[in-house]
Amino acid sequence: MNFQNRDVICSTTQVNITNECGNQVLGDTPLHEGINSYYNQGNMVMMVESLIRLGANVSVSNNKGVTPLHKAATEGNVEIAELLIRNKADVNAPDNVGVTPLHEAAAKGNVKIAEMLIRNKADVYAPGNDAHIPLSERKKVLQFSHDDKCSAHLGIHKTLAKIRQSYYWPGLQNDVRTYINGCDKCAKRKSPQKFKRATMALVGANGPMERIATYILGELPETESGNKYILVVSDYYTKWTESFAMPNMEAKTVAKIIVEEVIVRIGVPHLIHPDQGRQFESLLFQEMCCILNIKKTRTTPYHPKSDDMMERFNCK
Ligand SMILES: [Zn+2]
Repeated sequence: MNFQNRDVICSTTQVNITNECGNQVLGDTPLHEGINSYYNQGNMVMMVESLIRLGANVSVSNNKGVTPLHKAATEGNVEIAELLIRNKADVNAPDNVGVTPLHEAAAKGNVKIAEMLIRNKADVYAPGNDAHIPLSERKKVLQFSHDDKCSAHLGIHKTLAKIRQSYYWPGLQNDVRTYINGCDKCAKRKSPQKFKRATMALVGANGPMERIATYILGELPETESGNKYILVVSDYYTKWTESFAMPNMEAKTVAKIIVEEVIVRIGVPHLIHPDQGRQFESLLFQEMCCILNIKKTRTTPYHPKSDDMMERFNCK
């Protein structure tokens, strides 16, 4: 089998991890073997990662304790070991009595592997150690650490730290989170997390034509002269509002009306506050604002109140 590039791996993996009947092949697949023999090559990690991503079975439970990948890891390939853990491969070897090949390697003096295990928060407490709490006792530990009078319904982080001082089991953090999220007393007493918001500010105008708002209504039924849209322009200070019929809502049409019908007649505003329309974001419209030295803001689509004057006018 040839492992020249990633594409070959990706296309052959799915074929090789299932047999003809569609069942997953237990134990070593040809790909796993291939990886083992190629593990000195530079693209090894890449191949393994694509294997795992494709759902290949790298779990040790089907492999009598050790997969070729684990073997490669224990033989000193820290990169492979790290990748196994990062991809949540089963490094806890349920069939091994308490010790995984990785742990064995660490115990034999492979400091790199040991360091990596701890850095990746792998299960460094092998089952069978005294501190390891069996399933049936875990609820008691949770109750004692959270509900007890001396525990005072602490939050997730503090409860977790408290339990970790004395006990350990795989999936502890998740269990603590689930337990506390389901605690009645906590739900009744503790207020939900507050999200900080910037304070609302009133936008005022100090004179006529300082600040105008624009809004496009449509598409409406076509008129005899071919118009389908209405451009509404309103002054914030005087509330003077005018509407113009338009055949389309292109940037060119909108800009032409604003210049010829509003600016030429009434004057140049300091600021335009348009609605969400694409035409107001166009280059042409921005260019117009730039030449006439007009500042342009925009309405947020999630908060139509920011354009309340126009919304009120349109309701009438
Ligand atoms: Zn509680």
